[in-house]
Amino acid sequence: MEQIILQLKESGILGRGGAGFPVWQKWESVSNAVGDEKYIICNGAEGEPDVFKDGYIIKNYPEEVINGINIAINFLSAKKAYLYLNHNYYRDNRERLVELIGDLPIEVIEKGKGYIAGEESAICNFIETGIVEPRQKPPFLSNVGLFGKPTLVNNLETFYYVSKISKGDYGKKRLFSINGDVSDAGVFEESEEVTLEDLLRKTGNYPEFDFFVQVSGGAEGVIMLPEELKSPLAGGCGAIKVFNREKTDLFELMQYWIEFIIYGNCDKCVPCREGTYRIYEMVKARNIDKEKMLDLLDVLEKTSFCALGRGVVIPFRSLILKLKFEDYGDGKI
Ligand code: SF4
Repeated sequence: MEQIILQLKESGILGRGGAGFPVWQKWESVSNAVGDEKYIICNGAEGEPDVFKDGYIIKNYPEEVINGINIAINFLSAKKAYLYLNHNYYRDNRERLVELIGDLPIEVIEKGKGYIAGEESAICNFIETGIVEPRQKPPFLSNVGLFGKPTLVNNLETFYYVSKISKGDYGKKRLFSINGDVSDAGVFEESEEVTLEDLLRKTGNYPEFDFFVQVSGGAEGVIMLPEELKSPLAGGCGAIKVFNREKTDLFELMQYWIEFIIYGNCDKCVPCREGTYRIYEMVKARNIDKEKMLDLLDVLEKTSFCALGRGVVIPFRSLILKLKFEDYGDGKI
């Protein structure tokens, strides 16, 4: 087994894009896939609100990211890698990245429009055709990806840590972005094992007021109460947003989520296109029929074509089931 696979396996690192899949397994499956050409995509789309650790990495440690991508190129004998960045990261870092990349077969490209343009199969479609739409899976990209060839897609933070792992400088750490009603918002590197409560305390961000948090993204992240923060973050993208319960209008918060999704989805499938609009109508009217809402979420979860539609369910269901609206006069539910 190649040295890098052994190192990745030994490190136990999981992908940092959200799904939390063991990195070595993904690399090995692309390596074992049959194809005369192989491709790599480093996903720095980071399009969800309140997630900003990839932006921090590409600004401060671009050499590590490029080194991580180059390790994958060599391991897979890949034809080409794409460093896929959202508009701001592309605008701010492209010049420096191109300089650092030099003759390596890595192209820096700007993300397509909409949140869905960060979904891995939508990235493949966008690179091939300019159209932002996800693909049916299976087949998985590790077998049939970009241009129909085996493709390795990893999050930008993953490549950053691959580089560190190759140098024996990993330390089982990960990056967390913290913001919201906190005194010290920012990106923090901490042990993967740290509990969410300890993370907030260590960074001086544990609130002294009644609060809740949204974990793993400011549009599709799960709502958690203080008593749920005693375990480490398993998977997820490492984003934590703190909300002061008294100062937060839950209907405004839900409207923010659903408007983001409505503008960021691709309208390809009915459950996500129509379901999100029905949610928007209820939220906008500040009058939610709880049973109807939970039914709608159920349908979205079971029938949406891709993970974006299924992910809509996560914040809404957790907020509606965990938080008491009546105590704060937030609206009718
Ligand atoms: S769930 Fe459907 S409409 Fe929503 S982003 Fe995915 S394919 Fe597009």
